[in-house]
Amino acid sequence: MGKLVDPYGREIDYLRVSVIDRCNLKCFYCVPDVGSCSPDVSEVMSLEEIIKIIKAAASLGIKKVRLTGGEPLVRKDIVEMVSKISEIEGITDISLTTNGVMLNELAPALVKAGLNRVNISLDSMNPANFKKITRGGALKKTQRGIKAALKAGLTPVKINVVAMKGINDGEIEEFVKLTLDNDLHVRFIEYMPISKSHQKQWGECFMPISEIQELCEKIGPLEEEQTYRGNGPAAYYRIQGAKGLVGFISPVSRHFCGKCNRLRVTADGKIKPCLFSMDEIDLKEAGGDEEKLKELFMRSLDLRPDPHQVDRNPESRFNCSKREMQQIGG
Ligand code: SAM
Ligand code: SF4
Repeated sequence: MGKLVDPYGREIDYLRVSVIDRCNLKCFYCVPDVGSCSPDVSEVMSLEEIIKIIKAAASLGIKKVRLTGGEPLVRKDIVEMVSKISEIEGITDISLTTNGVMLNELAPALVKAGLNRVNISLDSMNPANFKKITRGGALKKTQRGIKAALKAGLTPVKINVVAMKGINDGEIEEFVKLTLDNDLHVRFIEYMPISKSHQKQWGECFMPISEIQELCEKIGPLEEEQTYRGNGPAAYYRIQGAKGLVGFISPVSRHFCGKCNRLRVTADGKIKPCLFSMDEIDLKEAGGDEEKLKELFMRSLDLRPDPHQVDRNPESRFNCSKREMQQIGG
């Protein structure tokens, strides 16, 4: 069986696996309607199932794996999972996206198990605002998690900030200042109306990257940083002399589907060939058989949409997912 190259020539070497759809926070932009997000709906994959899926994907050329959720650190077997993934032939990079709440206790063990990098979501540095956005979270825990990640050597630690009008736009300059003395990549992300339940609040809070960038430039001119221009969606800049970088991810206002190098697997074992599409392929059909898993991965390539069509018609990109972000993993 060949490598993962889709009909439009996009090579796929990156797999994002949502390892759980539950979370210890409830960010309003991720779970707009708490009632709709029943914790019992999905059959979360077992550790064994996840490892089999990643092994099959690695034999088709997947090199990088990101564990996400829900909140991946609430899984009791997360350290063992990282350790088992690090033993899979062909996997050269293991990363994790987390809200950082449990990172203080887990960072050293995760590094020992083979974790290479971490992205931490932090949308406010004001305790009251953090609590409001996350519907009850404690800022201190995430801040401790960031410190623990830096201490454990997971550098550069990437901080993901969903920038939103009237919510945290007044803190953008403060976030940029964090990069001056710290080896942090602060990445601003546009709010995506990922499902129908977002429509009203998205209309009120959405901020295009151009506006976010203008606010960042109040701290100083941003110099483009070519070193980090990979296949990822972020464009990186540095304030002159700063230790860290400022990144911009613009899924709504600027297209990047033409460079998309990733596939996603949901916590209940479905391949999502494109974040913005309804299509899914159920990996549980394979019954754990490696050859069948590989066939399903190859089949998912045909469901990858034409990047030009997706890019040209941003309207069609959104409000089309039957899952909320918490169930997909970002
Ligand atoms: N719980 C982990 C966390 O918060 O980092 C991992 C899962 S979370 C779904 C992954 C990423 O998706 C986070 O950086 C979060 O900010 C982002 N995200 C969630 N909903 C979003 C939305 N509607 N628009 C843009 N980004 C979103
Ligand atoms: Fe949980 Fe992450 Fe979604 Fe916030 S963004 S509710 S921390 S999954």
